[in-house]
Amino acid sequence: MDKKKLAIVVPCYNEEESLKENIPVLKNTLDALIRRNVITDDSFICFVDDGSRDRTWRIVESAHKEDTKHVKGIMFTRNFGNQKALLSGLEYAHNRDVDCAITIDADLQQDESKIEEFINKYNEGYEIVYGIRKDRKTDGILKKFTSYAFYTFMNMMGARIVPNHSEYRLMSRKALDTLELYQERKLFLRGVFFDTGLKSDHVEFDVKKREHGDSKFTYMSLMKLAAEGITSFSVRPLRLIFYIGIIISLVSLLWGCWTAYRVFILGIHAHNHIDYYEIFEMFMSGLQMLCIGVIGEYVGQIIQEVKGRPRSIIEKELD
Ligand code: UDP
Ligand code: MG
Repeated sequence: MDKKKLAIVVPCYNEEESLKENIPVLKNTLDALIRRNVITDDSFICFVDDGSRDRTWRIVESAHKEDTKHVKGIMFTRNFGNQKALLSGLEYAHNRDVDCAITIDADLQQDESKIEEFINKYNEGYEIVYGIRKDRKTDGILKKFTSYAFYTFMNMMGARIVPNHSEYRLMSRKALDTLELYQERKLFLRGVFFDTGLKSDHVEFDVKKREHGDSKFTYMSLMKLAAEGITSFSVRPLRLIFYIGIIISLVSLLWGCWTAYRVFILGIHAHNHIDYYEIFEMFMSGLQMLCIGVIGEYVGQIIQEVKGRPRSIIEKELD
């Protein structure tokens, strides 16, 4: 089997503590693969500093100075978010004609020793290899529940994604070529790769505990990610609003007929359901707000796409 040129792309946001420990680990992994002739000697790791406010960039710079050939870096002007950091690293790799690229988190919660398995799958002919978490032993009950809710809800709303897969993934050159065809500003990478329909397989791995620093994602940012993912891949929520509208209209029509029957045929005028009506009205106005909110999400997406602003802005590159 020919050796492959590999890029390992690592998004970093305020990861100074993780990087100090993990750059050597990743470098050892890369070196071992080069030594064993799995990958070529011009394979590299690309760290993307997503506007960190700590010493992340300095650490990347000094690792680059030590080994310019294998350690590369991109620094954003500000924080653009993890999807943009991943995308920028993948573009960097694509421009350097890699055979395949793997994305992995800076905290190395994803087991880096599985990288070779990803490459083996690629050698078997798969264009995309998804890393799938084997279990969630390190997560608390709440995190387990929210991530279950996340995947279920996303799939129900029509944004199809691979369960228990985050961003630990191998992409072939063909997959990276295909990624370039997706011109939208707000890219939801997990959805995009699933959408390509390219031949894919998966590798299972155990999640490790985050050793340094805190998770950069809050429940708010996860909700934002879910909303973006759904609105960019599916119009099912809009259709749902349409159906809700039809059902409510039908119910009120029947209710109207029933009331007319009571008043005109049975002659019953008094109604003492006032509380009942108030609750119903409140429910209806809540529902309307929710529906407007859903439409608003789509309008917001349209504005972002129409403006066509850059996905991210690079301050410096280490080549
Ligand atoms: N990250 C990023 N930009 C952000 C937030 C996170 O580049 O705005 C990076 C972060 O440094 C890490 C990866 O994305 O390498 C995943 O983040 P984290 O480990 O905090 O997420 P979790 O594992 O808790 O889902
Ligand atoms: Mg993490």
